[in-house]
Amino acid sequence: MVDQIFPGLYRLEIPLPGNPLKSVNSYLIKGTDKNLLIDTGMNRPECKKAFNQIFQELNIDLHQTDILITHLHPDHAGLVPYLKSPHSRVYGSRADTEMLSNLSDSSGSSQYWSDLADFAVQNGFLEGNQAISTHPCFKFKPEHIEYDVIEDGTNIDINGISLKCILTPGHSRGHVCLYDEDKQILFSGGHILAEITPNIALFSNDYNPLHDYLQSLDKVFNLEVRMTLPSHRSIIFDHQERISELKKHHQLRCEDILKILEYGPANAYDIASRMTWDLKHYQWEEFPLPQKWLATGEVIAHLKYLCESGRVVEYDGEGVTLFSLPV
Ligand SMILES: [Zn+2]
Repeated sequence: MVDQIFPGLYRLEIPLPGNPLKSVNSYLIKGTDKNLLIDTGMNRPECKKAFNQIFQELNIDLHQTDILITHLHPDHAGLVPYLKSPHSRVYGSRADTEMLSNLSDSSGSSQYWSDLADFAVQNGFLEGNQAISTHPCFKFKPEHIEYDVIEDGTNIDINGISLKCILTPGHSRGHVCLYDEDKQILFSGGHILAEITPNIALFSNDYNPLHDYLQSLDKVFNLEVRMTLPSHRSIIFDHQERISELKKHHQLRCEDILKILEYGPANAYDIASRMTWDLKHYQWEEFPLPQKWLATGEVIAHLKYLCESGRVVEYDGEGVTLFSLPV
């Protein structure tokens, strides 16, 4: 499905059948001699078919089309190798494109996935290995691509539109939003979504994504924005209201975790199984593995945030990381 947002700017709704996200929004800026495609969909036949149809309908020449990924997730970067032409420039942030190159290399990739599985098991997720085998990043190993690295403040000019790159780490380490100051449009990628909350997850011990995410929400809060164009679901017309809701959501999730820990120490997987999730499955046991994976990663991100602010402590419980309230 294609919507024209204003002349020369299109929202392309690319289907993700069977995925709880339902679809991904790509945005296309169509110029006279150059186009820019923002995000690409997954490496799946349904996504390829949708792009082929839309590009034919809009008369898009891929040789004149550059691509920008807001972040490395496979529903955003997955079709870059399929859609890029030898003449295309492909833009992405330093952190996310480095990670994609690492995953495209077999030794880097196997080290990454085994570290991830070990970390999951250490956090009580005993089916870690099995969950990874269904992970889209694992199943569709990224191809090596030469990216044009964008930094915070980089401007990309296309057809008289100037897009400012704003680094907004949180949903991924190198997530980037694009801001068109003239038209007051924010392309928010997976940073701000309307009907669903962006997944903020952690499966390592070396950073604090929830802290980064909350700071990144503040970073865009005061921008003059008439319309926020997210990567999934509906357009947002009051980004400040949505940011306040998202902050509240994370605050409630932290409070939920603190309440669970009042009953005693627990590992992250255990805590995830005792929380309330906004999913159609009522029982934790019924959650599909990928959902359990996302939920556990989300809990670990919140625990990291709570530990770093001194509200929770973490310790080794014979090979399993346990969390408790400070004594
Ligand atoms: Zn994402």
